[in-house]
Amino acid sequence: AVLIEDIHKRFGSLEVLKGVSLSVDTGQVVAIIGRSGSGKSTLLRCINGLETFHAGKIEVAGHVMTQDPTKLRELRKDVGIVFQSYNLFPHLTVGQNIMLSPRITKNVPQAQALALAKDVLAQVGLSEKFDSYPDNLSGGQQQRVAIARSLAMQPKVMLFDEVTSALDPELTGEVLIVMEKLAKGGMTMLLVTHEMNFARTVADTTVFMHQGLIWESGPSKELFANPQTPELANFVKAGA
Ligand code: ATP
Ligand code: MG
Repeated sequence: AVLIEDIHKRFGSLEVLKGVSLSVDTGQVVAIIGRSGSGKSTLLRCINGLETFHAGKIEVAGHVMTQDPTKLRELRKDVGIVFQSYNLFPHLTVGQNIMLSPRITKNVPQAQALALAKDVLAQVGLSEKFDSYPDNLSGGQQQRVAIARSLAMQPKVMLFDEVTSALDPELTGEVLIVMEKLAKGGMTMLLVTHEMNFARTVADTTVFMHQGLIWESGPSKELFANPQTPELANFVKAGA
């Protein structure tokens, strides 16, 4: 479902991805952990075509990464991405926020978009908020709406970049539960997270990035229990 081969990426003279290779099989959940600045977000953004890269190859949901705008639009229909900031439209209701992309980018008929929106909102446990405005929801609820909005595009792959980092600790859990349900439901997921316990228990594989490289990776439980490098050992000790 996701194939990343030897990606190199520079910002000016700073090389932030120095040859990253990674694959995520259909239905698999892969967590990316690592210090600030190690290149986690840049890698995720490359997978959705939000960043270009200088060398290497990415294939995602059957699409080869390209800069051709038409092909990129097709790719993005199959690859959802959710960020730390939810960016819901404040002047639209929850339902309208969710229906927008399917209506505009996929030409889904109104009635079908409505049914889809209700379905994905139920999936994140917020059916009763269909007609609410984002400002009247908690941060955790807004983030769940952002996830629902992404799901309404019926993506084949979901990317998450620290989606709980901006939330108060008591709101983090409800978002993680939604993501865990999605994982259990067979969604192919690649997520950057600071939630070590979530990575350990939900992700099939965890990848530790360090200085623009995949420093260490493996089955999540083994990786956390038995780090092979001092860098990961220190990171786990500090973060746990
Ligand atoms: P964090 O945990 O803080 O989110 P990260 O692992 O996601 O960190 P990236 O955001 O991928 O790190 O950044 C990797 C490196 O690239 C950093 O040194 C960052 O300053 C640099 N960088 C990221 N985006 C840009 C940009 N648009 N222009 C210049 N440098 C950038
Ligand atoms: Mg980041």
